Amino acid sequence: MEESLNFIEAIIEQDICNEVYSEGISTRFPPEPNGYLHLGHAKSICLNFGLASKYKGRVNLRFDDTNPERENSSYIDAIRKDIQWLGFEWHNEFYASDYFEILYGFAIELIKRDLAYVDDSTPEEIAEQKGTPQVTGVPNRYRGRSIDENLLLFEAMKVGSFKDGAKVLRAKIDMKAANMHMRDPIIYRIKHTPHHRTGSAWCIYPMYDFAHGQSDAIECITHSTCTLEFVAHRPLYNWFIEKLGLFPSKQIEFARLNLAFTIMSKRKLQQLVEKGLVDGWDDPRLPTVAGLRRRGYTPNAIREFCDRIGVAKRDAITDYNLLEFCVREDLNKTAQRRIAVLKPLRVIITNYGQEFTENIVLENLPGEEAEGSREVPFTRELWIEQDDFMEHPTKNYFRLTLGGAVRLKGAYIILCEHVVKDEDGNISELHCKYFPESKSGHDHSNIKVKSTIHWLSIPFAIPAEIRLYNKLFEIEDPGQTGDEFLKHFNKDSIQVLPNAYVENDLINRDDVGVNFQFVRMGYFIKDRNSTADHFIFNRTVGLRENWKK
Ligand code: ATP
Ligand code: MG
Ligand code: MG
Repeated sequence: MEESLNFIEAIIEQDICNEVYSEGISTRFPPEPNGYLHLGHAKSICLNFGLASKYKGRVNLRFDDTNPERENSSYIDAIRKDIQWLGFEWHNEFYASDYFEILYGFAIELIKRDLAYVDDSTPEEIAEQKGTPQVTGVPNRYRGRSIDENLLLFEAMKVGSFKDGAKVLRAKIDMKAANMHMRDPIIYRIKHTPHHRTGSAWCIYPMYDFAHGQSDAIECITHSTCTLEFVAHRPLYNWFIEKLGLFPSKQIEFARLNLAFTIMSKRKLQQLVEKGLVDGWDDPRLPTVAGLRRRGYTPNAIREFCDRIGVAKRDAITDYNLLEFCVREDLNKTAQRRIAVLKPLRVIITNYGQEFTENIVLENLPGEEAEGSREVPFTRELWIEQDDFMEHPTKNYFRLTLGGAVRLKGAYIILCEHVVKDEDGNISELHCKYFPESKSGHDHSNIKVKSTIHWLSIPFAIPAEIRLYNKLFEIEDPGQTGDEFLKHFNKDSIQVLPNAYVENDLINRDDVGVNFQFVRMGYFIKDRNSTADHFIFNRTVGLRENWKK
């Protein structure tokens, strides 16, 4: 069967067929180290590493660090860690800042060929002269500067003779171009800001458009993918490569990933972090790779998700359910089952021996014998979920009721005979009787029950805090609201259940990074803030879809 190619693969295969690139295929992932990676970056990573692997090419990790104000090296380590965790290895690690000298040389070359000039205008004047899509731009008097004067001034910019913003270097292209990016774009600006790698060696920095394509060309990247916003930059990307006679890297744009009810922008995510609305860049509610990891997502699930959304040429908002579907699919196959009671209600089995304990054997992963089983103690006093009991049941409620019976998972059928309430009328415990002949696997009781509920033995259960998560924003596309997005932050995006209990088996092991299914409650993972006497579990995802629009 012939597999169908996405449009980027089609371009690559055509280039291979036409022998456009003799040295094979090269891609790169070019993060700016100004924040943590999010799912959108994961999509780009899967794409670029995937293409390199499919076409037996190379993939570079290039830190696009040309903006000294917003970048720092802690982000570099976090980015490396996230890519590795996703399961990818890069061939080379490069930094755009390593090319500052070469890029400076390119700028000199453009000046010498009268293709760049130093402009003393203010940013306002530059914007004004640039015009609008409807109004053509007008050249200013600096555009006519001589090559010699430009060379002197640019050199003076480099050695620090001018203040920030006093001058810029612009490419001399066409102030009347229909494409605004071709109206003499700025290619260098003055910034007396130390850089996290080059220190104070430079006080002029190349603009993104002057650094990115040239970095691609320096590294002989054959196919340089980026998101659709850059379509209009492509003529400029090609102009620099052509004028400077560089390696002909090819820019290809694809639709960015947007996910419903969350935000996919480092700058905006950073605001959530800085305002303390979330617990750092790895808050389990965030769509960052670190947040998803802490939430219990697996690399497999994220890669599968990126695969399923594929690459498109039109922007859209992806449904959160698809992401959750992918992690459920993965964890269903691999996560061992355990029991946790999230909102506990005490049950006393009045006819069960006071001192008596028996072990109930539960499978770790149904259908996977190799995963083994474990013994769970059963005693007279148990925790069940508050939600698994209704004194006055509604229609179609099949769990425990006063006078009704239910099966305790792997154990006995119990019948509720009496409800004990506190002074406020809240149910504090249930008195039940059990049927000794109803034990799972050896049931001779002939009692029919309609459901099975989970339970924990009170003397053995371990207190834990459980954190459930909900959508981060109340509206589907918070990114659309610009800087108003914080107003739509969902204050109920986290629900803490401080009085939960978990199986004692969960605490005797080093479980950081191990996923579990808590029977009937969803998939969970131990949080990194757990301590030896305070256990915290994050819910990765429930067992069923629960996202409503
Ligand atoms: P942000 O606005 O979140 O900072 P960015 O595009 O500025 O995103 P970069 O660090 O420059 O972040 O991105 C590195 C790579 O990841 C780029 O090639 C970019 O196109 C890609 N990328 C970023 N966001 C997305 C997204 N939402 N979907 C797909 N690819 C993305
Ligand atoms: Mg960017
Ligand atoms: Mg950005």
